Formats: sequence, C-alpha cells, structure tokens
Amino acid sequence: MKINGYELAIPEEKLDHILSAETQAIEMIDKNFSGYQALSEGDKKALTYLVRAARIVNDISLEQDHPLNLTLKKNLEKEAKNSTYAAKALKLFNSLNGVAGLNGLDPEPVQIFKGVGVLPGRNFYPQDLSVEEFHKILLKMLKSGKAAEVKKILSARSMVRRQGDELYAIDYTEYFASQFSQIANELELAAHYSSNHAFNDYLGWQAQALLQNNEDMDQLADKHWAVLQDTPLEFTLSRENYEDEMTGTVFENDELKSLLAEHGIEPVSKDMLGARVGIVNQKGTKLLLSFKEQMKQLASLMPYAEKYEQSVASGEDVKQTMVDVDLVTLQGDYAQCRGGITTAQNLPNNDKLSIKLGGGRRNVYHRQVRMSHDTERTKKMLAALVAPEFHQYFNPEAEHIFVIGHENGHSLGPNSSYQEALGVYKHIIEENKADVVSITFMPEYVKSGVISEQTLKEVYTTWIIRLFLKSKPQQIQPHRVGDLIHFNFLLEKGAIHFNSERKLEIDFLKLPKAMFEILRQTIEVQLSKDPKKAKAFIDKYSKWSDLHQYIANTLRSLGVKPYKDIRTYL
Ligand SMILES: [Zn+2]
Repeated sequence: MKINGYELAIPEEKLDHILSAETQAIEMIDKNFSGYQALSEGDKKALTYLVRAARIVNDISLEQDHPLNLTLKKNLEKEAKNSTYAAKALKLFNSLNGVAGLNGLDPEPVQIFKGVGVLPGRNFYPQDLSVEEFHKILLKMLKSGKAAEVKKILSARSMVRRQGDELYAIDYTEYFASQFSQIANELELAAHYSSNHAFNDYLGWQAQALLQNNEDMDQLADKHWAVLQDTPLEFTLSRENYEDEMTGTVFENDELKSLLAEHGIEPVSKDMLGARVGIVNQKGTKLLLSFKEQMKQLASLMPYAEKYEQSVASGEDVKQTMVDVDLVTLQGDYAQCRGGITTAQNLPNNDKLSIKLGGGRRNVYHRQVRMSHDTERTKKMLAALVAPEFHQYFNPEAEHIFVIGHENGHSLGPNSSYQEALGVYKHIIEENKADVVSITFMPEYVKSGVISEQTLKEVYTTWIIRLFLKSKPQQIQPHRVGDLIHFNFLLEKGAIHFNSERKLEIDFLKLPKAMFEILRQTIEVQLSKDPKKAKAFIDKYSKWSDLHQYIANTLRSLGVKPYKDIRTYL
C-alpha cells in the first residue's frame, strides 16, 4: 500500500503483532476522574484551552522531527477511514509520533515507510546536509565575516535552511509564527478562566515569550514556571535538545571548534518542543514535599559529611519545586515514545538562560505513566525469578518512592566539581550514588513517619527486582551499569541470594549495612577525584555471570512491550 507515493514498510500482520503484543497502553485521565470533578468550573474550562495549545505544540514537533511527518500523517488519517492496514500504520505513527524512531530494543530505528528514515539533523537542518558539508559551510561563513549568522544557526531555537551555497537560520518565533500565535491565544484564554493567580501569571509570560524573538522572554517565562508549587493545574512547554544529532558534531572538528570559541559562539543543540497538561495531585505532592523536608537531616548522615559541602547545606535546593501530576495529555516531544516514556522530569535544563541566571527548577512526576504496567507479565516474572514469600512486597507504586529518594539523592554528597573530575565515569558513579542514597536512607523516612515498615519492605523488594537486567549494560547506560553494581554488591554481602531453584530471596536485616557500605565506597570514589579509582570500583562490581545471563534470558522469554499507546480523553 502506498501513501503519497511512499510504500508502507511493515506488513499488516507484523503491525497486528506490534499493536497487540508489543504495545503498552498509557491511560490519561477522563471526566470521571475525581481530581477532575473536584476542579472549579473555571479550571475545567481553562483545561480545554491548555489541551488545544498542547495539540498545536504537537504539530510543531512533527514539523521539527521530519519534513514528511505532517503530510504523511494527514494522508494516513485519510486512508485510515477505508483501510484497516492504513489505520494500523497510523497507530504506530502516533506511538512514535513520527515516521520513524528507535523502539528501545532493536539497534536500528523502526520505519513506517520504505526509504523514510530518521535524519541526524531531523528537520532542524536541510535533510540532504551531511556532517562534512555542515562543517565546511560553517568554516567558510566564519572566515568570511558571517559569525553573527553562524551564531543563529547554532542556537537552540532556530530552523536552518539553505541559501545558495550557505546556510541561514530562522528563529522559531518566525518559522512557527502562526502556530506560536495560536498557542499564545489559547494560553491567554486559559489564563482568563483558571483560578490560580501565579499560574495565570506564568501563562501570560509564556504567551508573550512565544510572540517575541527574544531569549530573555523565555527566561522570564521559565522563572515564573519553576516557582509554581500550589496550583490546581499543570501546563509545561518543554524545550529539550536530545534529538538533534547534528549541532553537537561541531565539537568533533578541531578547527571549527577553536574558531567558534574565538568568536565567542556557544553551540547549543536544537530544542524539540513538547507540551504537558495535567491536574496537580495534592496527596502525591504532599508526599514529595515530606521527603524534601528530610534532606538537611539526611545530609548530616552522609559518609564523610565533614569533608565536603553539600548543595542542600548551601541552599541550592531551595529553588526546587516539585509536584505529582495526573496527566490530561502529553504532546510533542513527550509523546515521541521511541523506546520509553518519561516518568518524571526536572526542568529547565542547564543550557537554558534561566538556570544560568540562577533561576530555579521544577520537578514534575507523571502518575499515569508510572501506574501503567503490564500486570500479566509482572506475575509471570515474579513466578519465574522470585521466591513466593517475597511476591507480596512487589508494588510498582513503591518504585515511585525510590525515584523520589533518587532525585533528592543528587543533592546530597560531594558537589559537581568532585563529580566532573571522574571524567567518562562521572555519570555511572553519580547515578549509582543517587540510587544508593535513596535506598540507604529509606529507614530514616520510616523513623520520621513519612512511610511505614510495610512500605519500606516494598521499596526494598521492588527496587531489587528492578535490578534484574535484560542484557549486559554498556557504559553509555549509566543507570543500568549502576543496577549491575548494586546487584553484585548485595550478592557479595549476602543481602540477596538465589536459592536452589534460582529464585531471589532477600535478607532484610543485612540490607541496611550492605547499602551503607556501597554508599561509603561510592563517596570515597567521588572524593578521590580519580578516574582510575572510579574505573576500578566499576570493574570490580560490574561482572556479568551465568546468573545474570539466566535472568536476562528469562526476562526476554516473557516478552516486552517497547511501544506505548497514550490514550487521551479530555
Ligand atoms: Zn539521576
């Protein structure tokens, strides 16, 4: 079957399999949801405008992602009315939110249409632009006095096109002028109806930022967004730059790199836009804040605490808000489910002006994402790998508590100068540290009444089971290498073991001491500022044995659901 002259690349039977056996549904909230019903009439009305704004953001992200996305989607939708094959292809398109993308399992991206693949420069750059030509053009422009234009080309907020044998940049506020002005309208309408003053204030700043070619306006919008804590509604216009694989290549060209530095040009990868709309969950948010309250007390319990200053103590964490959110919709970058979907996100990122100027961050947790899981598969996994008496303690909601501890864990321990000194090992050591801080201090939250003894056992058990790996991790997967380190450490200390049937058993009494010991060794590595010590620690605890391979094989035999289907109702 052809759409706009492009042949579908996946046979219909294969699509059937992907959609039925390999796709996990993520249910957004609907009108019956109690948190929605509790909203004021004005806030309900505001939500409809925010959802409309978010849908426009989705179209923008489609245009940023691939030059053929919008046309092919439109025509797939047309064909889907008469053809089941096209309808299924459309579902996969919506899951990837684009014509192609990684699924998190296969090494090569999945392509819906023959010959329509992922472009390294997405649609931020001309699709026939190679890395070599890109560098050649930039060098030529820099040498012929066009540094100002090169600066715009390498900015996070421009689409780049050809002009003769050179390139030029179009700021997002121009390229997407009509969409941005529609979004601004919707945001202003939402602000008119919504009940919360601080939230309306932010919407006003955000609307203005969309209408002006001025990074300072983004900065002000970000600052007003980051302080939002007690609002009924949640709206985020996210700008993250992980997709663009073109801009960053300039650092690999020494001549270009030094010329850019000479001209004071700081290249930043292009922002893919995303939009999130939701309702702040009061109960979940209260839990987040009660964890935050413990931070100063935990700082004093850190190993070697007297040897370094922690960001908590210096007041850095004060500018951090955090909310738990029931999701109404995820659009744009958030909905490009290419191998995963975000369960929590802390913005703005370091490249943003508001952070450089000392603005705060806001951490938003996604309830509907974390609550969606494959219960059938979980049952099979527990039966295959975990001793029966521990099944009662496996609870996906307990993983959320671990994640809160992890996020807070980044604010404890030696500061970033120690972290950076470990070079290529810094991410593994730092992510390992945040995990270990979370679990090591979990009993403190029981002492202060934030969680119960039962929850503590659930956090321990769920976390340990989540250390099971589907394959041997690579160094570019710091979280997974960390998982392997914890797993091996706990095995060595006898806090976990596998019985004669190769099923996991946990010794809850041995766990606290073993955890503190990993934490102590991890902090020792950071304090050493020595990459060799980091490597030795990682090598020692990341061995892959028959047991790991047995677990990986078992997990893979249970099947996995790498694709997501975000179901939106409001
Ligand atoms: Zn982390």
